[in-house]
Amino acid sequence: MPEPDILVSEVGPRDGLQNIDAVLPTEAKKRWIQLEAEAGVTEIEVGSFVPAKYMPQLADTLELVSFARAIKGLSVAVLVPNFYGAKAAVEAQADKMSIPFSVSETHCQRNLNRSHDQMFAEIDQIVDMLSLLPKEKRPHFEVGLSTAFGCSLEGKIADEKIAEIAEKVIAAGCDEVGLSDTTGSANPAQVRHLIKLVRSVVGNDKLTGVHLHNTRGLGLANALAALEEGITTLDSSLGGLGGCPAAPGASGNIVTEDLVFMLESMGLNTGIDIHKLLSVRQTLSETIAGESLFGFTAEAGLPKGY
Ligand code: ZN
Repeated sequence: MPEPDILVSEVGPRDGLQNIDAVLPTEAKKRWIQLEAEAGVTEIEVGSFVPAKYMPQLADTLELVSFARAIKGLSVAVLVPNFYGAKAAVEAQADKMSIPFSVSETHCQRNLNRSHDQMFAEIDQIVDMLSLLPKEKRPHFEVGLSTAFGCSLEGKIADEKIAEIAEKVIAAGCDEVGLSDTTGSANPAQVRHLIKLVRSVVGNDKLTGVHLHNTRGLGLANALAALEEGITTLDSSLGGLGGCPAAPGASGNIVTEDLVFMLESMGLNTGIDIHKLLSVRQTLSETIAGESLFGFTAEAGLPKGY
């Protein structure tokens, strides 16, 4: 199998499930993860190390990490809200962990109960912990710049602020920053602009992924703009589940099925079998009956001869 051109990183089991009321049984999540890996998805964010009292839907993250680690070729990602979460991720031996650093301080307070200064301190503490570990035990540590394209509480955040945070966390020793459109406010011109801006301060190799939501229907247009700027990792969610409980009005991620259809139709290799992926969606829809799934490809079917 040739190396994929684009890494499609499935975030549904985390971003998706934190936003639905139902708590999906652990066995159903395992099945979802297993089937998506079998469809060729090579990175899955399986959960978040947040205290179960805040997010009971994700209370089984530890078990899911250990399950997913046993799947050959799968990179297991988790979200961590703070140092304790990062410690749990290291102990669980996740391959990748990302901490959401909201560039909007109001959202940062509301989401993680931390000021920006406290976030920098938290990140220093995490980097110190990682530096004591042998290299093979260190998960890839990414800082996701949340609300980078606009915040539903504060509005648009100044470029200078975003660049300053990106520069500081990379200087602190994080492996990478990502740009997250938490509230689905981005447009393609802004996507291009922010990628260029952040890369100009941290370097191209320190920003390779974006996390987009489809709240206003611009998700795939934004993904295309990011690709054209040389981004190689795109987060998406099966059936477009997702949102952010602390950001009013935030809704689903870009839809994995539609994203894979777009990329593969353009001749880009994702390593994912779309037929299998569509059948995973079918299984998921039966499991979370009552929740709406989004996406056009599944509704319309694949074009004749595809
Ligand atoms: Zn998200």
